[in-house]
Amino acid sequence: MIIGDVRVIRADIPVARPHAMSFTTLEAVNFVFVRLETRDGLVGWGEAACLGGPTWSEESAESVAATLERYVAPWLRGRDATGIEALRIEMARRVQGNPFARAAVEMALWDLAGRALGVPVHRLLGGRVRDRVPLSWSLAVASPDAEVAEARARVALGHRIFKLKTAAHPVARDVERVRRIREAVGPDVALRVDANQGWDRPTALRAIRALEPYGLDFVEQPVARWDLEGLAHIGRSVAVPIMADESCFTPQDALAIARAGGVSILALKLTKSAGILGALAVARVAEAAGLGCYVGCMIETSLGTAAYLQVALAAAPVTWGCELFGPLLLRGDVVRQPVRYADGAILALDGPGLGVEVDETFVKEWTRRA
Ligand code: MG
Repeated sequence: MIIGDVRVIRADIPVARPHAMSFTTLEAVNFVFVRLETRDGLVGWGEAACLGGPTWSEESAESVAATLERYVAPWLRGRDATGIEALRIEMARRVQGNPFARAAVEMALWDLAGRALGVPVHRLLGGRVRDRVPLSWSLAVASPDAEVAEARARVALGHRIFKLKTAAHPVARDVERVRRIREAVGPDVALRVDANQGWDRPTALRAIRALEPYGLDFVEQPVARWDLEGLAHIGRSVAVPIMADESCFTPQDALAIARAGGVSILALKLTKSAGILGALAVARVAEAAGLGCYVGCMIETSLGTAAYLQVALAAAPVTWGCELFGPLLLRGDVVRQPVRYADGAILALDGPGLGVEVDETFVKEWTRRA
């Protein structure tokens, strides 16, 4: 399985409604798609989704594409695609940081491996331990009435878990938002909040205590990603479980979080962990430390979602479900049959490789022209 051709494609796909968070408001998600073709003509695909420039982390679609075109593609041509672990290690040596860029390549290698063997990637990861993953829908910051209407509409479609983006406004306003959503969806729907690093320690403590009456499952990334002591302090001071997202990219981050204590849940994302193997390594550290895992997203198409889903299906520590709702929020997709949802869950994919078939005419439709 010698890699013959490496293509890096920039694309932008609008979202169905503005997606406002503490750090940016999205009108479109910026993508880099990676297409690997072996000399035998087998094709594998990967994806890096970025939220409007280097906002969520240091990487942007532009930096991902430049890194891959100049420093990865020339090296990858002529390499044996079956050696995913060896290629992962060498790629990490050639490209420091830049995990979104590396993840897009690693996903495509797994897609090739599964297709070559005619099995879904989760089979290569040890087999799936679940056949569906409970799905969280993210409510971005909107007008109070719009948020309530969206939550009600989603409940009618079977959604049972919501995550509210917070910290774009003062605490009192976030508390009022959560109160109204809880009132609208009733006591049996799960609610979570994600501050995306938007609070400092005292604000986080004040906010989480004020939110306690509304029965939150967890509070995600209340403070800056570097503030592991802050996460630990907050986690020990409140009853609501704390989840680390931006603080936890690598297995080394996971280990440091576990050692600092206070955090109960780690959010897995293939992009921040440079691919499937990195995300699974984080999951194993979580398992060893007695923490739970959740599969987050960067609002991927069905392609990236399918890759994340392989991990959500195969990794036993993923006990908190996922938020693989990207294909439901994006106005377009790049595959023939999008990933499927039912009864508030995303369903397993059992086709070969990542389990979705990329349609290159769809990719062309969204490809950036300039
Ligand atoms: Mg998050």
